[in-house]
Amino acid sequence: MAVSSADRTPLIAGNWKMYKTPTESTAFLTNFLPLVKSNEIAEIVLFPAMPSLPAMVDAASGKNVSVGSQTMHWLEEGAYTGETSPVMLTSLGVTHVLIGHSERRRYFNETDARVNLKLKAALKHGLTPIVCVGEHFEERERNLTADVLKLQTSVALEGIDPAALVPLVIAYEPVWAIGTGRTATPEMAEEAHGIIREHIVREAGEAIAASTRILYGGSVKPENTAELTAMPNIDGALVGGASLDATSFAAIVTNTALPS
Ligand code: PEP
Repeated sequence: MAVSSADRTPLIAGNWKMYKTPTESTAFLTNFLPLVKSNEIAEIVLFPAMPSLPAMVDAASGKNVSVGSQTMHWLEEGAYTGETSPVMLTSLGVTHVLIGHSERRRYFNETDARVNLKLKAALKHGLTPIVCVGEHFEERERNLTADVLKLQTSVALEGIDPAALVPLVIAYEPVWAIGTGRTATPEMAEEAHGIIREHIVREAGEAIAASTRILYGGSVKPENTAELTAMPNIDGALVGGASLDATSFAAIVTNTALPS
């Protein structure tokens, strides 16, 4: 499939995991916003911890940074202690949501079936979903990467009208590269992104596949951003550790390659 990346605006997302209090989160923004004030390369989204969402939405209002949630339940309300619904997130002004991050899959039983329910809920409520997929090291060693990526993508998209998938963003995050300092080479990542995009063609058609942004995640830092994002099927990055520091995250934004 001849896919041009020129129409896909790069997206740089920062996943803060269980770091930063509300005060620390807004202090980050105070330092970060001036550094990306003239950014015209990428959309920027930060995913702070849940208690920081209201303060972050306020502090980012009218700026070139959006705020997303690291997770959510798929139902609008109910007896689910500790959970947060999509309605609660949109009422705060949250615009994005991470779904199926490997840490959620590993520690909190976020199965492919739940990823599917959450994706449907995000689309229904107008939240931009970033669905995370990726293989474990043993799966890569056993040559199962393509199978894993296709299965995770197929189940995530099951039963969804392709027309509803316009806002979809996928993050390819090889589990062995998250928080380990080990990064997939640009060629390895490009191959995986190509497999995902081809699979979206089969599941949702050419147009959706061509417009879906596929981010790379796994030990992205300022030094490796340019070569990763220069690949034709890599449309930005989902960044963990290096997004916690304003200077380093701003450098990642600045080093992002323009789509060609
Ligand atoms: C992540 O949490 O999604 C991630 C990619 O983390 P890191 O950049 O630290 O590997």
